[in-house]
Amino acid sequence: MKHFDLVIIGGGPIGIACGLEAKKKGLNYLIIEKGPIVNSLFNYPSNMQFFSSSERLEIDEIPFISKEAKPKRNEALEYYRRIVTSNHLNIQLFEKVESVRKSEHLFTIKTKKGTYTAPHVVVATGFYDLPNTLNIPGEDLPKVAHYYKDPHFYANQKLAVVGASNSAIDAALECWRKGSEVTLIIRGAEVGQRVKYWVRPDIINRIEEGSIKAYYHSTLKEVKENEIIIDTPEGDVHLKNDFVLALTGYKPNFEFLEKLGIELSDDEKRLPNYDPETMETNISGLYLAGVICGGMETHKWFIENSRIHAKVIVADILTKKFVESKD
Ligand code: FAD
Repeated sequence: MKHFDLVIIGGGPIGIACGLEAKKKGLNYLIIEKGPIVNSLFNYPSNMQFFSSSERLEIDEIPFISKEAKPKRNEALEYYRRIVTSNHLNIQLFEKVESVRKSEHLFTIKTKKGTYTAPHVVVATGFYDLPNTLNIPGEDLPKVAHYYKDPHFYANQKLAVVGASNSAIDAALECWRKGSEVTLIIRGAEVGQRVKYWVRPDIINRIEEGSIKAYYHSTLKEVKENEIIIDTPEGDVHLKNDFVLALTGYKPNFEFLEKLGIELSDDEKRLPNYDPETMETNISGLYLAGVICGGMETHKWFIENSRIHAKVIVADILTKKFVESKD
């Protein structure tokens, strides 16, 4: 069993920022990541472009140089990977944390590959692992996906895209441009207001000119082998269909948080209980960092505004260490 000052669960941008800060401040730390380095970003659409400009995605002020002001996924992978490798961060990959238990002042962190102990744990597990499902008949058919990767796959196919936020709109436009016949199914009255400001006019124009068909105030009711049924204000619409991309957002692993003993608000936001001054949760020594802090409000925290969590957490740990060593 190996012992550390700090174990960080999740090797996304914010977990990496925590590791880097811990290293700089002389803490004995370990980052445990269930996939490759920045697993969520690795799984984003191949051609995805960030809405943030590159300097706002920087951690520890390490320059992020990108071709355009707003970097592409590949450039972000390059950036965060180089931070890990050139700083020789202590990160173990493809190792999922299965459980965290606290006894006295020590956490025991278990994975399939090992057991670790530490007085401090940071949970930076993001929100990209669990999609918001539609819970409709046919959702489990292989033609339905909750993650979008590449438009080539959908060329010359009848594709239904469910959702009206950035992921759905990016996918709809890209696939249409590569020859898919795209139908958008939008629950509300319009394309999401948070859609990137340079993309929104593009999709609205494609809808208005009839290149992409959009059903507003509508929901996908059922998916069949060769057809979908859409519930629209005018009644059920049956459409021929080859593939469905249900891009209706993602949510944090609340079960994991609850098992750790972290309190969640009773409302639909499911906000975890933590002190914003220190990022420490209701369990002493257990911290939250990154997008996971927002509960169901997954748009509240992102890399830009949560990279600061690393410095806040490490400063709090160091203060406590100092106080403990004086006692
Ligand atoms: P994540 O990057 O999700 O990292 C969490 C990590 O934890 C993952 O690597 C995961 O594999 C790992 N993990 C989960 N469970 C376990 C476990 N049990 N054991 C071990 N490891 C585990 N933000 C911006 O600031 N600007 C943007 O332009 C932007 N564009 C975005 C575009 C898209 C399409 C999406 C989906 C998000 C975008 N975001 C953007 C949000 C941003 O990507 C997230 O805010 C960022 O990934 C948050 O970093 P994180 O480290 O908190 O979480």
